Amino acid sequence: MKDIEIAQKAKMEKITTVAARLGLNADQIEQYGDYKAKIKLPLKNNNLTNGKLILVTAINPTPAGEGKSTVTVGLGDALNLRKHRTAIALREPSLGPVMGMKGGATGGGYAQVVPMEDINLHFTGDMHALTTANNTLAALIDNHIYQGNQLNIDPRRVIWKRVLDINDRALRHIVIGLGGLSQGIPREDGFDITVASELMAILCLSESLADLKKRISRIVIGYTYDKQPVTVKQLGVTGAISLLLKDAIKPNLVQTLAHTPAIIHGGPFANIAHGCNSVLATQTALKLADYTVTEAGFGADLGAEKFLDIKSPVLGQTPNAVVIVATARALKMHGGVAKDQLATENLPALAAGFANLRKHIASIKRYQVPVIVAINRFSTDTEAELTKLKELCQQDEIPVAVADVWAQGGQGALELADKVVELCDQPADFAPLYRTDDSLTVKIKKIVTEIYGGQEVVYSRKAQRQLRQFTQNGWDKLPICMAKTQYSLSDDPKKLGAPTGFAIHIREFVPKLGAGFIVALTGNVLTMPGLPKVPAANQMELADDGTISGLY
Ligand code: ADP
Repeated sequence: MKDIEIAQKAKMEKITTVAARLGLNADQIEQYGDYKAKIKLPLKNNNLTNGKLILVTAINPTPAGEGKSTVTVGLGDALNLRKHRTAIALREPSLGPVMGMKGGATGGGYAQVVPMEDINLHFTGDMHALTTANNTLAALIDNHIYQGNQLNIDPRRVIWKRVLDINDRALRHIVIGLGGLSQGIPREDGFDITVASELMAILCLSESLADLKKRISRIVIGYTYDKQPVTVKQLGVTGAISLLLKDAIKPNLVQTLAHTPAIIHGGPFANIAHGCNSVLATQTALKLADYTVTEAGFGADLGAEKFLDIKSPVLGQTPNAVVIVATARALKMHGGVAKDQLATENLPALAAGFANLRKHIASIKRYQVPVIVAINRFSTDTEAELTKLKELCQQDEIPVAVADVWAQGGQGALELADKVVELCDQPADFAPLYRTDDSLTVKIKKIVTEIYGGQEVVYSRKAQRQLRQFTQNGWDKLPICMAKTQYSLSDDPKKLGAPTGFAIHIREFVPKLGAGFIVALTGNVLTMPGLPKVPAANQMELADDGTISGLY
């Protein structure tokens, strides 16, 4: 059965019942129909103590994804089956991958969050609010320039781009303001996908409305003719941009197929942004549940690194355990097998591809956080492959469990859940990758050498010029958010396995002062994806009775 058919057959509980399981009464939520709600913040009972935090990450994925969301959901259900009060904290899907290549982001098989169609499409409108807030700021900037440009903004140096939550390569580079005197000042512009917007990062890192406003006021939208940064505060529109996000900042509550509460909020991609759901959602889950299972995007080199180096310091809590999801299929790909041969048993390739998993394990152990491997079982995996993979982990003395959650839901992850609970009870002494006062180049070097396994960092002339400028502006001690391909540990998507000795090429930096980090664009990574030759959109149908199909 297809994911969507399983989801459509689900008997959901009313969202008030799901909320009650977290100790929230009807006054503490805002209902969006029967099965979705936003949680009102701050929580009334704010002296609740935090539960344990479990971070789910993965090896470098195949284009279809390795099943992090699926395992996150299944593990949450398994913990609840074991009578641990558990909540899941996930990211909101973007319509880019939904219509493009990867499909939705609500898990799969019998480990899904529901209502899956709503969550994957417009949900509670957060993405639209972010798109609108982002583009309101863009319009206000262009209007400021047109109406006399009191702030002396150089139209060639505006860095605030427009956004859309759809993959649309035709909008990457555009010229605006054409058509004559009354149409504005012509300048080059471009669109990013909404999940790459700084406002998404801000929404995900804000601890309160006050913090949201402070962060928005700090956003640098561009530079003056004499190269001085211009902020939203100077434009005088902090209030307008903030109020457009007043509802979007509240975490959304839904449920899994097994009725485990799932808080789904914020959705930056990990390859072009910081890859984690919102701090407010995770904090809320930590306060209301004994165990919170959360996920960070793409592989551990991207999502987990950013979770541990960018999100954790704001959250004020590091994970008690990290689950690395691996599949026999992807490890065979890392061992040299072609993408159309991944369903065939190949033990030598599996053993060779294990190098990719081993590198991610070492990277997480580097932070001194307990780690476990979850083998996400596919129906094409053979017993010999699963045994081999377990043996390889055991040889390295890494705890491992098969997660058969796609086929069995929580029942398929009971062993994983028990082992994760054990790990959470181990003392952990978190060791950050870099010090706050390390310079940008030191931080980047540490990420490249210790997490990616690379050797050196090569800066373009533009990046070198920007580094000098950032030092003058006092921005040289901020955390770094790497924008890098998810397919490889290097910046070349074709280098699979665990490459070594490579250089990471930094093309350009983008300062995100509101989010509080500097983005480093590496290789050819794009902040506005394109659609594939046959987009997922081509399979989608809406029946006359309103039933949706083809949404995976
Ligand atoms: P990620 O979070 O790593 O991107 P997802 O959990 O979203 O990956 O899964 C990606 C896709 O793969 C989904 O369509 C899901 O249904 C499918 N999938 C995940 N695990 C399995 C599995 N064990 N067997 C078959 N399909 C799976």
